[in-house]
Amino acid sequence: MKVFNHRSNLLSYLKEIPSSTNTGLVPTMGNLHDGHLALLKKSLSINEISFVSIFVNPLQFSASEDLSKYPRTLEEDLKKVEAMEKKHTNKEVIVFAPKDSKEIFGSSYGTTIRNSLLGSIIEGVDRPEHFEGVLTVVYRLFRIFKPKNAYFGKKDYQQLFLIKAMTQDLLLNVFIDSIEIQRDADGLALSSRNQYLSNEERKKALTLPKTLKKLASKIGQCAETNQELIEAVKDKDWRYLEIKDTQNLQDISKKTKEVVLLAVYKVGNTRLLDNIEVNIEKS
Ligand code: AMP
Repeated sequence: MKVFNHRSNLLSYLKEIPSSTNTGLVPTMGNLHDGHLALLKKSLSINEISFVSIFVNPLQFSASEDLSKYPRTLEEDLKKVEAMEKKHTNKEVIVFAPKDSKEIFGSSYGTTIRNSLLGSIIEGVDRPEHFEGVLTVVYRLFRIFKPKNAYFGKKDYQQLFLIKAMTQDLLLNVFIDSIEIQRDADGLALSSRNQYLSNEERKKALTLPKTLKKLASKIGQCAETNQELIEAVKDKDWRYLEIKDTQNLQDISKKTKEVVLLAVYKVGNTRLLDNIEVNIEKS
């Protein structure tokens, strides 16, 4: 494992990698858990060299959000990455962990990437600038690493959708691969934000995956019935709970074969994000 804190040193190293090498990028904000490590495992299984970026991207946090509080655990993260690398012989991991956002964005930036169709719906209603920040940093990371493949979790479903759309819209030469949501034994999706939860809150948090699972077993092709089912479970703690067509993230239509239930459930001050895909073709 090699670790770089400065972009210039990283770029010098990357220049020496032959262009035929299979490479995979795993972008993260650190505080690595088994969800992140599952992404790295997939990249290691496919690519000769895997890149892991560890960077808490200020652009994707609004002024009122938890940027300064976001857990930073670089030493532990590096141990986890190294242990995963050791399980894969003849594979190399390169970590980029910039200490300053200038290493990614330079000292001033004015060009950002925004999806005007899909960036302001669902999660984008609650967090209007969020996806612009995500797409801008992911684009920069793609330019820095020029990976053949990049790995993202379905946990951030709309984010994955937007990143795929960006690579298509901007003709980026990178294959976007994904993994299923990694969960704790009780069903709660793994997240760096779970550690903010008290014991009591942790119990309440299970309402999120349990409700999604229950709804998934009931929803079908009738949009009105689906909406009634959703309204019946929603209370003030649901920031949103929406049903969308997995093809386009739009409302379901007669042509819809598969849907995704996307939700943010608030427990205390913590926003928990989750989703579930459901095939409704034969329902
Ligand atoms: P983050 O560090 O939160 O920006 O996440 C980095 C990557 O890990 C993103 O592609 C996430 O979708 C993915 N990820 C985070 N949590 C999970 C999880 N529980 N299961 C699968 N992927 C995840």
